[in-house]
Amino acid sequence: MTVPAAAAIPRVPLNDLARAARQEHDALAAVLARVARSGWYVLGEELRRFEAAFAAYVGVAHAVGVGNGTDALELALRALRIGPGRDVVTVANAGMYSSTAIRRVGARPVYADVDETTMNLDAHALEAALTPSTAAVIVTHLYGRLADVEAIAALCTARGLPLIEDCAQAHGARRGGRQAGAFGTLSCFSFYPTKNLGALGDAGAVLTGDDALAARLRALRQYGWGGKYEVREPGGVNSRLDEVQAAVLAHRLAALDARNARRRAVARRYSQSLRNPAIAPPSPGGEDDVAHLYVVRCAQRDALRAHLAACGIGADVHYPIPDHLQPAYPLSPLPHLPVTERLAREILSLPCFPELDDAEVDAVIEACHAWRAAA
Ligand SMILES: *Cc1c(COP(=O)(O)O)cnc(C)c1O
Repeated sequence: MTVPAAAAIPRVPLNDLARAARQEHDALAAVLARVARSGWYVLGEELRRFEAAFAAYVGVAHAVGVGNGTDALELALRALRIGPGRDVVTVANAGMYSSTAIRRVGARPVYADVDETTMNLDAHALEAALTPSTAAVIVTHLYGRLADVEAIAALCTARGLPLIEDCAQAHGARRGGRQAGAFGTLSCFSFYPTKNLGALGDAGAVLTGDDALAARLRALRQYGWGGKYEVREPGGVNSRLDEVQAAVLAHRLAALDARNARRRAVARRYSQSLRNPAIAPPSPGGEDDVAHLYVVRCAQRDALRAHLAACGIGADVHYPIPDHLQPAYPLSPLPHLPVTERLAREILSLPCFPELDDAEVDAVIEACHAWRAAA
């Protein structure tokens, strides 16, 4: 195994949010000053504008801004009136967010395995996991790639089950003219700073085409209020998307498609040039993949990661511990999720963000080529 001389290799971060912020510094400063001067900071004109723009972008009637993506999932479940005694089927390889929301409403997460190639919910495994206690399904479009969501939506419709899409990693992914977030009963977005559409802090949204669900969500995000100080909807919380974040997001929405295109170009450059038989690139994606993360597989993942670190290259594992093996929530008996567990041992995310330049991508590829798996 050769480690190239440190001086010859640029440091390549897994992500660097300051690069985008520097490029749009003047525009961001103007946006922040406008909101500061307005004297209105929560649930105002900026949020209404962003909600309308984002709903139109996704192609769904209503967008309801909330505090973050995990709250979005929780409020979607509350809007469906799912609580104790009910099961929600989800995957165990998507960072515990859906499980956290399901547990917060008192329901039980039931896990279905993922497809080996797409690493997303397997429609056959989902069908096998459905029982009379199932109240809903959450499908995550992991790493920016649309799941087999048409088949999953058809199955849910046939069983009379609501489908919630977790689009926190898939803003702008589309297939057959339809966007991530336009397939389910409700869809949930996070605008955490590292997401494809990111705020300067926490933010999220729930989208739906259903007027009644949208009205319930607007009540739930603000104490359950129908009108001021009148609590109509049980299970309300305080989870609002503030004016500063809404204004930043409305500004950044205009650049989302271009930045997604650059993420795809980075992913393509990796996939076209990576030629180490011990490192498997992800299966190629098209418009249905917005390359939120570029995730390779490697049987000796930890050794590869250590080698990249020695070369000054950032890499991380999304995610190392499947939900059903998290220490806080011991499960007995354990669900049988062989693909999920194998992936957790083998996956590694390489640097992939719009401001990464070609020389940096090539440096990562070179470092991958310099690594040899132990015999
Ligand atoms: C980031 C993320 C969330 C949670 O979003 P927060 O805004 O951090 O609460 C949910 N699901 C997925 C798949 C995510 O990547």
